[in-house]
Amino acid sequence: QWSRVRGRLQEEIGEVEYRNWLRQAVLHGLDGDEVTVMLPTRFLRDWVNKEYGNLLTAFWQAENPAVRRVDIRTRPAGTSERAPDLAEVEPKTAIARPAAAARREAEERPDMSAPLDPRFTFDTFVVGKPNEFAYACARRVADGHASPGFNPLFLYGGVGLGKTHLMHAIAWELSQRSDEVTVAYMSAEKFMHKFVSALRRQSTIEFKNELRSVDVLMVDDLQFLIGKDGTQEEFFHTFNALVDSGKQIIVSADKSPSDLSGIEDRLRTRLGCGMVADVHATTYELRLAILEAKAARAGVVVPGRVMEFLAQKITANVRELEGALNRLIAHANLFERPVTLETAHEVLHDLLRAYDRKITIEEIQKQVAEHYNIRVSEMSSARRARNIARPRQIAMYLAKQLTSRSLPEIGRKFGNRDHTTVMHAVSKVTELIEADPDFAEDVELLRRILTV
Ligand code: ADP
Ligand code: MG
Repeated sequence: QWSRVRGRLQEEIGEVEYRNWLRQAVLHGLDGDEVTVMLPTRFLRDWVNKEYGNLLTAFWQAENPAVRRVDIRTRPAGTSERAPDLAEVEPKTAIARPAAAARREAEERPDMSAPLDPRFTFDTFVVGKPNEFAYACARRVADGHASPGFNPLFLYGGVGLGKTHLMHAIAWELSQRSDEVTVAYMSAEKFMHKFVSALRRQSTIEFKNELRSVDVLMVDDLQFLIGKDGTQEEFFHTFNALVDSGKQIIVSADKSPSDLSGIEDRLRTRLGCGMVADVHATTYELRLAILEAKAARAGVVVPGRVMEFLAQKITANVRELEGALNRLIAHANLFERPVTLETAHEVLHDLLRAYDRKITIEEIQKQVAEHYNIRVSEMSSARRARNIARPRQIAMYLAKQLTSRSLPEIGRKFGNRDHTTVMHAVSKVTELIEADPDFAEDVELLRRILTV
């Protein structure tokens, strides 16, 4: 029953949401008319209760009419301290594919490596300007022809932009190429847990040997090790041992090695020694291409206008974009209705509202000033030093983009400047965005902060 309920939930809310929120839900018991479901954290519990409580109850009742109440609780001590987003950090597990296949695979794989998501292959990865370099590096390493200059391969970028996808793709490719190559993929968090439990069991030698026996070691979300000095130290030694014997290391993080403060200097230095590839925020074109690929793969007809609308609106990251598309598709399937712009508005109402939230010029000024570490008052000051004028121009640009204010209105809010000044700022920033990916990323980041 529980597995059917889970299946229906997954269908209803889409894989991405399911994975984010409900993957860790376990059935605790069915007692008379009450079902108890456990989640690992209070945060997850509250969220699931609020967002999916009714659905859970409804699906349970459909399975078993005796059920009156679904009680959602947290798992008892030990696991209750875990952070809510561990569902993300932990590599995606087998939910998406048939349980039997997943089990088989888990048995075949050495315990060292976490399961790989079968959907995360090079075939399903859509390449565009923002990720082409990272993609090319990943391909190189997966081909097995990478020079020592690619060791380690360090992939970095914001959440949901495809780092884990690329790592899994490399692992799939390598293991397909040869049975001989042993690949271990794990999150940095898993690395730490393994290390800590080896310490506890006094089996660190086995741990070390096991790790050092692999040909390719991948550690995802290395930022997790910030401030965890003991584990960093262990990782550092593993790293050196592997690289010295010509094994490949692939690491991902949310920042570049030099920006990973809280990671020991000598480790950061070594991390930056190989190939460092940045996965940039998506562009409209890439988002559209991803939607097209996903819809085609799902075998669902989604009108071009709907995809354009989604690509325009849902800019935060690919995961969210994918989630939105999945929701639309699930909805269309459930009600046997085609996907239209109207249903998109209706189904994604909550998501879109967050994006549409009215943003004020004051908010933009405050956020931009904070980001560039200048005073808000400088937004209206007459100073023209670059370190002040540039943020001011960015704020004007964002004001034009994110609010419906006219150029003269915007000018007035920036110390009574003329509308031509605003116009100039908009075109200057547009030009810089096109010319300089780092700058573009910065502006995108600000936009993201302002629109959530
Ligand atoms: P990250 O590890 O950078 O946080 P993920 O690799 O988990 O991000 O990607 C989030 C989701 O977006 C995954 O489902 C992934 O398949 C999808 N995704 C990201 N980038 C792409 C891309 N270029 N093409 C296709 N799917 C993508
Ligand atoms: Mg990831």
